[in-house]
Amino acid sequence: MNVVSNIPPLDLKRQYQAIGADVSAAVLEVLASGAYIGGSVVRDFEQQFASYVGTTECVGCNSGTDALYLALRAMKIGAGDEVITTPFTFIATAETISEAGAKPVFVDIDLATFNLDLSQLAAAITPRTRAIMPVHLFGNPLDLTKLMSIATQHNLIVIEDCAQATGAKWNGKQVGSIGHFGCFSFFPTKNLGACGDGGAITVNDPALAADLRMYREHGSRQRYYHEAIGVNSRLDAIQAAVLQVKLQHLDRWNQQRAKVAAIYQELLANVPNIITPQATPGGESAWNQYTIRLVAPAGIDAAAYRDRVRASLLEVGVISMIYYPLPLHLQEVYRDLHLPIGSFPNTELVSHQVLSIPMFPEITFDEQQRVVYALKDAIAAHHTPE
Ligand SMILES: *Cc1c(COP(=O)(O)O)cnc(C)c1O
Repeated sequence: MNVVSNIPPLDLKRQYQAIGADVSAAVLEVLASGAYIGGSVVRDFEQQFASYVGTTECVGCNSGTDALYLALRAMKIGAGDEVITTPFTFIATAETISEAGAKPVFVDIDLATFNLDLSQLAAAITPRTRAIMPVHLFGNPLDLTKLMSIATQHNLIVIEDCAQATGAKWNGKQVGSIGHFGCFSFFPTKNLGACGDGGAITVNDPALAADLRMYREHGSRQRYYHEAIGVNSRLDAIQAAVLQVKLQHLDRWNQQRAKVAAIYQELLANVPNIITPQATPGGESAWNQYTIRLVAPAGIDAAAYRDRVRASLLEVGVISMIYYPLPLHLQEVYRDLHLPIGSFPNTELVSHQVLSIPMFPEITFDEQQRVVYALKDAIAAHHTPE
């Protein structure tokens, strides 16, 4: 019998095989330098990343979560304030709003893009609304032209959650350069991943960048003098060195991801019960994930169907992921918001249907074919209620 290996959701070992020598050399250089916190490696990366995104400033920090939190703090958003965001995202987006002391206000998503439904945004704005925190989910940019025009009209700050969208473009411009703040994660599974935690905030205002640095460093502009309660959130020199090497490959990797997505699109075009993801017209997705919707046949529970298809894939070595199985408004932590089932129908629907199939720059055509055959088999096998 032929033993075939598993197809993982992503395979960082293949990336390391390709560029590992350069990454290791950069890390060794930091180790030998003795400068492990701050220093020129971090400053150089901040400059390189700002110029990549197309902003004047970049402030490195410890994670994408901290990037969002620091942006909120820099705008002094806290108790009594509301921030509009999506319930269909990773917890960090809403969590940072709560952590800052403000209230997350959810708006449902658009079924075609998984991103905030901008036609419902105005209705959620109140006198307490200070900011909008959109997420470019799965790498797919949200319509920033429309969003910025709503934000400007209501005098709101836009904090882009770009964690999954490093390198994505809206109207030819990088995400993170259009809103007031671009918040990035360098978690290893993101498009530009460190070898550990890391994050960054991009802005076009030097005074804002200085405030972000102040909050990042214990509320201090001058060592041992503190003007605010801040945090300790550093981008390590070792991670900055890794990121400098990887940034040079990011566009190529993202182009490869786009090719992988186009191949899936073609191979899955006529498969029943599958809705393939669409990039927002006007945008260029970074394809952090390739997330399909599985539509259950009549009489079958949506989530149970999706889970059965997923189990069938696993049996033949295809590992898929569910981002995200439980919308944020239904999480225990947000019970106090009193947002029952039915509050955000599109979000709730897709949370039962989504399945993210293997997506990474190094995946081979043969592997993609195996994923698609496995999906077709699973769908054929589960077309009746069990
Ligand atoms: C990963 C992620 C974050 C948080 O990034 P970390 O670096 O893991 O803290 C925030 N928002 C979204 C949408 C993410 O996917």
